[in-house]
Amino acid sequence: MTGPLTDEVLTEFAENVSYADGPEVRAMANELLVLRPRVAELETQLARVRETHQPVDALNIRHHPNGRLTRVCSGCGTDDGNWQIYPCPTIRALEVQS
Ligand SMILES: [Zn+2]
Repeated sequence: MTGPLTDEVLTEFAENVSYADGPEVRAMANELLVLRPRVAELETQLARVRETHQPVDALNIRHHPNGRLTRVCSGCGTDDGNWQIYPCPTIRALEVQS
């Protein structure tokens, strides 16, 4: 198998494994078939979280008495009733850690 492991490549692999491929390969194929729908479900859920936490510009008069646009989260607020500065804790938690 060469090239990128696209959904199509993985599906073809998983669906075309036969008894002749041996137990380890068959186990991998079964695992792929079980895990792929779960990964797709999690990606959909992640997209909904990101949709909820969009950056929007709001007029900030609390820290800037004359008003100034500040990027805030469309889905989060603070305990004192203000917008949460973007990126909010939820979006920061989704960032890839290196
Ligand atoms: Zn947020």
